[in-house]
Order: sequence, then structure tokens, then C-alpha cells
Amino acid sequence: MNLNHQTITNISKLLSNGEITSVELTEACLNQIESFDNSINAFISVYSDMAIQQAYTADKAWLNWRKGNTKIKPSMINGVPIAIKDVLCMSDTITSAGSKMLQNFVSHYDATAVAHLRNAGAVLIGKTNTDEFAMGSSTETSIFGPTHNPWNIEHVPGGSSGGSAASVSSQMVYGALGTDTGGSVRQPAAMCGVVGFKPTYGGVSRSGLIAFGSSFDQIGTITKTVEDSAALHQAICGHDPHDLTSYVHKNASYFTNLSDCNNLNGITIGVDETQFNQNIQPEVKLNIMNVLETIKNLGANIIPIHLPHNQYALESYYLIANAEASANLARYDGIRYGFRSNDTTLMDTYINTRSNGLGKEVKRRIMLGTYALSTGYYDDYYLNAQKIRSLISEDFSEAFSKVDLIVGPVTPTTAFKIGAKINNPLQMYLSDVFTLSANLAGLPGISIPCGFDKIGLPIGVQMLGPKFSDQKLFNVAHIYQQTLNWRQFHPSLENKK
Ligand code: GLN
Repeated sequence: MNLNHQTITNISKLLSNGEITSVELTEACLNQIESFDNSINAFISVYSDMAIQQAYTADKAWLNWRKGNTKIKPSMINGVPIAIKDVLCMSDTITSAGSKMLQNFVSHYDATAVAHLRNAGAVLIGKTNTDEFAMGSSTETSIFGPTHNPWNIEHVPGGSSGGSAASVSSQMVYGALGTDTGGSVRQPAAMCGVVGFKPTYGGVSRSGLIAFGSSFDQIGTITKTVEDSAALHQAICGHDPHDLTSYVHKNASYFTNLSDCNNLNGITIGVDETQFNQNIQPEVKLNIMNVLETIKNLGANIIPIHLPHNQYALESYYLIANAEASANLARYDGIRYGFRSNDTTLMDTYINTRSNGLGKEVKRRIMLGTYALSTGYYDDYYLNAQKIRSLISEDFSEAFSKVDLIVGPVTPTTAFKIGAKINNPLQMYLSDVFTLSANLAGLPGISIPCGFDKIGLPIGVQMLGPKFSDQKLFNVAHIYQQTLNWRQFHPSLENKK
């Protein structure tokens, strides 16, 4: 059995009956990282010794339970190696956000989502690469260099959670946490051929997450299967007094409650056909059409829907998210956190710390955001963008009064070449055109692999649901995924050492 190729669902069974140990799994993951991360660059830091220690503890917990010393069964992720995007604080380790500003910043506490994983016994193997402060769609702006797509290392893995997506896709870990402000979990998952889930806004606590656009940011999961995604989400979700936008889940057993049904009878799926009029790669369109055909054959009813204000989602998102970013990033002033320039006066310290500690894209966002919030421009830009945001939410509510879920593409194209869009921010922003509106409206969304383009790069399909429909989304995505033999496809890494 190739340990690296297993899923969380598989290995949790093998761990529980003692067929494998967490130490073996962790060693297999560390070996995979050692062999291939030189060419993929998925990780910013790897904590081998700590991971092995955690694996020993997890093995003891399984053993105790098997011996009957305790009646409480360990969590299904007890002993499972997981990677964390490097914008989430992990106690006593560096949390860099891919930025020179925080390159040496040591977190003093765990983000709530990380603490949940730790308490569930997960092996926290390392921190993954990200666009600087999670601003980007390609994982190229990190101070630690770009991450490469495991299917073709000349291409980007998507972003900003490209390190997390690449680490799962290249079988270095069984699951990873990412963050999704405008698509950064779903888009890299699609480009790397893995499953990316963004919960309803407020589903997972943002405490300990380095803030970008607080009214959008959500922590999501990246895994090989929908089942695994439900398992990981189940472990990290829930209300947290440290984040008052987090909500109480009526039933958080997303994995346990996964439907065992094998059809979609009674489910109505909406399709916004205007999405196919945009600049979309023909193979992406073709594959989404095939998914719709499969879903129809599974018994779902497919009807057209209209989301008239979606055409303004990109403008609205980039105004509001950047406005929030400009406020959130004001704290990096050289006084409180991280990098500080070598100056003697206060003003020079502020100016040079921010000029030298932050990268080009981050500074662009701060400037755009500050401009949109400034007197005289606030009404024209920020306020209008907020009005559009409300209209987009209303369009979705109207659509979801008729359909259970909406299905469409995740990205207009498959993974592009490294360097292709880095000097053209507008082109880069357009790669999120199908994912942003879910964040504007706070909806849950999932990206599931559904095919390949002609050069062998993965394609993803996106399913969106109304707020709090996370369980239904998992169920439908799971039923769809079982029709695929997707798990037999892995990027071949042997020639990429
Ligand atoms: N690509 C989008 C942006 O750059 C989304 C980023 C994200 O979801 N973190 O803003």
C-alpha cells in the first residue's frame, strides 16, 4: 500500500484498527516533502521533530482506546498529517503571511482552527506558501518564491492558498487549511486537481487568522475527496467567543451526516448561462457541460437562473476587500509587529518600514483601498460597491428560492504559466471572476475536480449553496464525486525531483 496516496477517510480506519501508525504516516509525508518540495515549494516551514512527537502521542491515544483504557474514541483526524497555510497562527512558530514584514514573526498562540486540529490530535506538519498576505491568485508574490503546480511545474498552482493545494495534490499531506477571501481555496484546488471547500461566512472562527478582508475571509479545507473535506471542516468549525461573526452550528457532524444516497432525485440545480459567454477556455466549458449531464443523469433537475448583478462582482469585491485590507494592514507600522526599518525618526520609520517591508501587490491594494475610503471618493466608490454587494446577495436569495444549488466553473482557464500574469494585475484579478460573488454574499462553495485540459492540467467544477447549506453542498458534491474515478489520477512527480 502506498501510504501517501491514501485519503483521511481510509487512513482513519487503518489507524483505528492498528494496521498503520501515525508515525509511519508522518514519516511517509516527511519523505515525500523531502523528495519533492525542492521543486514544488509548497512549504515555507516543516516541523519534522514536532510532527513525529505529535504522531507518537496520537498513536498512544489510538492504542489506549483499542486496549479499552478509555471509552472515548479518538477523533478521525487523530494522527493524520495536515498542513496549515502560513497566514494562520500556530503557537511558537513563525507565521509569515509570505511577507518580509512578518518573516520573523513568532505567534504566541494557536488560531482557533489550528487549536481545534491540535486538540483533535492532528499532526501539524508545517506551514504552506501563500501570496503575500493572501492577496493574489497564483502564489507568486510570496517572499519565499513561487509555488509550482505539481501537474506541471512550469505552471502556477493558483492562489493564494497555492502551497496548501500543491501540498495535498503532490501527496505530501492528507489535508490542508487554506483561506478564501475571494476564491483562494476553491481556485487553487481546481488548478491542482483537489477538493476545496469554503464554508458559509462565520462557519469557522477567524481568530488567529492574519486579517485581509474581514467581512470576506473564511478558513477552508483542501483535501483529496469531498468526504475528507467534510471530516476536516467538522473538526475546525463552530462558534468561538474570540470571533463574534462565528455562528453556532446546529449540527456540526458534517462527515457523519454525509448522505449515503447515490442519486440526486429531488435536487434542483441552477445554471447561470451568461458565465459561458465570458472569456472561458473551451475545455473548461466542455467539462462543466459534462458535469451537468452527469448531474442530470443522477436525477437532478437543471434550470437556468439569472444573477443580473454578478457582472459587477469583480469591481465590488476589489473595492471593498482592498478598503478592508488598507485598514487591517495599518497595524504593520514597524512599532508593534515584525520588520522595522533602521531609521531614527518616527515618520521615517513608518514610511520605510512599510515601503520596504511590504511587496508591490500589497502596497497597490493599500493604496486602492485608502483611495476608495477617502473623503470625496467614499460615496462614489466604497458606498456604491457596498450597494452592489447587497444587490448580489439579493440576486442569490432570489435564485435560491427556486434552486437548491448553483453549478458552474471555478476558473475561466486552467493553471497558467508562472510569470504569465504577474505584471498584469487586472488579468490576475479576472481569474477569480467566478468565485468572488460567493464571498460577497457569504455563501458556502466547493470546488471538485472534474477533468483535464489537453495538456493534462486539472479542471474544477464549483457548487454554491445558500447560507448554512454546507451539509447539502457536501452531500451533492459527494454523490457527484463518487461517479468519478478521480482518485486514480495523481500528478507524476518522479521526473520533478
Ligand atoms: N485572488 C483574490 C484576491 O487577490 C482572492 C484572494 C483570497 O481569496 N485570499 O483578492
